[in-house]
Amino acid sequence: MPTYTFRCENCGEEYTTFTFYSKVEEVKCPQCGSKEKERVYKKVSFSVQGGSSTSCGGSCGGCSGCG
Ligand SMILES: [Zn+2]
Repeated sequence: MPTYTFRCENCGEEYTTFTFYSKVEEVKCPQCGSKEKERVYKKVSFSVQGGSSTSCGGSCGGCSGCG
């Protein structure tokens, strides 16, 4: 199930939810309950913690794991 991040156009709350694409329109803001929202496309970023190398599993195309 894909993850979607939205920003509520009513109260500005940013929230992430798991849902199917066909159900996206039914997603409500957890803060105010509004369905008015815009999709937020988050860039996948990886912070290296503790100096160890990190890998995304081949989905970002930019990290050491993607080669
Ligand atoms: Zn809201």
